[in-house]
Amino acid sequence: MKKSLLLITIALGMAYHSFAQEQLVNAKKVQWEQFKEQEGNNWEVRWNQETGVPNVISNGLSKPYSGTPESIARQFLTEHRALFSMKSTLNDLRHSETQTNRGVHHVTFDQYYKGVRVEDAEYLVHIRENGQVDMANGNYHPNINIPITAPTTGNNAVLYAKANLGATVAEKDNSTSELVIVPIDDTYKLAYKVHVLTENPYYDWDYIIDANEGSILKKYNRVKGFHNDEALITTGTGKVYPKHPLNSTLTNKSLFGLAGNNKLDGTYVTVLNETGPEASSSTHSFIYSTSSTHFDEVSLYFHVDSYRRNFIESLDADDNLFDHLEATAHTGNTWCSGNACFQPTPFALFFSDTYGYAREDKVVYHEYTHAVIYDIEDGIASFATEEGAISEGTPDYFAGAATGRAKIGESLGPVNKIRDMSSPFYSNYSAYQLDNNDGTPVSPQAGGEFFSSILWDIRNNSTITDGEADFLVFDALFRVSGTPDFLDFRDAMKAADVAAYSGTHRYMIHDMFADKGVGVHSPLFVNVSGPITMDEGTSETWTSSLASHTYSTAPYTYEWTRDIPGQSSGVVGTGSSYSGTQYDDFSLDVLVTDANGKTGIGEISVLVDDGGGCIFCKQVVLPTAFTLSNNYPNPFNPSTQIKFELPETAEVSIKVYNIVGQQVATLVNDQMQAGFHNATFEADNLASGVYIARLTATGSSGEQFVSEIKMQLIK
Ligand SMILES: [Zn+2]
Repeated sequence: MKKSLLLITIALGMAYHSFAQEQLVNAKKVQWEQFKEQEGNNWEVRWNQETGVPNVISNGLSKPYSGTPESIARQFLTEHRALFSMKSTLNDLRHSETQTNRGVHHVTFDQYYKGVRVEDAEYLVHIRENGQVDMANGNYHPNINIPITAPTTGNNAVLYAKANLGATVAEKDNSTSELVIVPIDDTYKLAYKVHVLTENPYYDWDYIIDANEGSILKKYNRVKGFHNDEALITTGTGKVYPKHPLNSTLTNKSLFGLAGNNKLDGTYVTVLNETGPEASSSTHSFIYSTSSTHFDEVSLYFHVDSYRRNFIESLDADDNLFDHLEATAHTGNTWCSGNACFQPTPFALFFSDTYGYAREDKVVYHEYTHAVIYDIEDGIASFATEEGAISEGTPDYFAGAATGRAKIGESLGPVNKIRDMSSPFYSNYSAYQLDNNDGTPVSPQAGGEFFSSILWDIRNNSTITDGEADFLVFDALFRVSGTPDFLDFRDAMKAADVAAYSGTHRYMIHDMFADKGVGVHSPLFVNVSGPITMDEGTSETWTSSLASHTYSTAPYTYEWTRDIPGQSSGVVGTGSSYSGTQYDDFSLDVLVTDANGKTGIGEISVLVDDGGGCIFCKQVVLPTAFTLSNNYPNPFNPSTQIKFELPETAEVSIKVYNIVGQQVATLVNDQMQAGFHNATFEADNLASGVYIARLTATGSSGEQFVSEIKMQLIK
């Protein structure tokens, strides 16, 4: 469970391109540049430093593919296999599931090595309805090289796990073992993953047991889902605290979706009581005093039903979630004694009556959200890690979102168990990390308070609506892989925002994480507009503006620097625009700083037509016609240059096709200025043969131009 957070240590550069490459893995730089040449410059990457594979690429859109979501995902990974360090056949990736939320398909693959599954190694590809990929992420291990024969048998591994549980436990079902490969730091171990379910006392464990030495490498509680449908017919009445006992008064409320069998059994939940008989009413009137054992049962039904019906259903537009679960208001369950719990096996909620947890709306909402998250992404587990903090913080966030209240556990529980998203114990990431690294790991709940406080900041930001924020958190769950850390979740939310809201909020989200110390702040994205050619001795104006998605705070300061190559360089202005009379070719930079000290640089280069008078400036001679020249060298291996000329500004594309007409690369797809241009075709990953480059241009005058050349690759 090695986390990748420590990657983010370099200071963020001011220019646009360095922002996208937090700690670029150098060996991969070429592949990454090629990827962007083909799929566009908007793409951002974050690398896994141990595997050298992208942890996530996002923020862009690939060309459209056709086929099933799984086949599109395979085409995309295959085409860019050099970037992902994957094999050409992808035969070590097995499809595990595809989920669809709001039109985006989320395809998940598990990695296998010589037929043995690699634990925690899954890769996801996210595909829009039109077949364009907008994100890929996860863990892939290209460098596994270990023998896969084990001295220990699976049966022995089960015995080791049971011995660890103790001699007296009663096994419920047959325990199972699966041979797996476990990444540990930068090595790999052959191991058995053993599942043990016992009845008394209640245990549901996964063990990872070293297949060579028989030692226990890891153990954790296992989770598993299950669905159930109920017939539904009637509405009843129950007496409840609408919020919780300390800030609401007892009220008779409607109980919706009851099945009509005289019990608290309905559309979304069946309420049970392990310490006595369950409430029953032939008129579906469940009015009890707070001292009745049935009072908590009614409260539990009301809170689960209203949370699912009024809040969760609004997020789950595509009906992805489980239909129904069981919830126990008074639990005799040993494992959950004195607490409130979600147990994935069975897929159920349990509430101890020690602190009356079933009476507090937000405690019920929190536990129910665990079931929701499990059903979307069963890999997120409650370890004392960032993954665990996400697993506990997201339920706190949704419980807060449904109620508008930042605190949870404020009812009858111990004061030191209250969690407050608006004033978390850890106010920043370094404090959380410091505690987590000092040998006493921060509990997932305390880490969750910190994590949810970031989500809460996002929700309360003035540039986003509550509903938008809630949807992005929900949708991010479909995008993260099984062992997410905070940066993974941030990037998943940004990708969800790019898909749903054109990325309007993505740098706000990025900065809300950075404000709490998770990752670094985004830069200002500065554009400069104004002429790029002008006559000597005349005056022109250049104006800076921020790209629409930039997240920043007014007021701004500006510093314009003019550089005349070979002559002079200096600050020439401090306004949002710069005007000046020019005599020589020059470049202009504007450094913009916002109220919080965040900076960005915009650049423009200008050719000054000197009429032959100046020493240093260039003669501006534009081509007179569209031209595509033969590539050089030809034949080539592995790269070649293609020259082309544009007499006017034009929309230009250069695509490369193989001899049977399949497109293999996009070299240019952009608006370009008049002038002499050069494109590079890199063919490291292509087979020898003849390739055709086709240039298509539409000039600003409306003139159209199409031309092809043949190129021969000999390897
Ligand atoms: Zn929890």
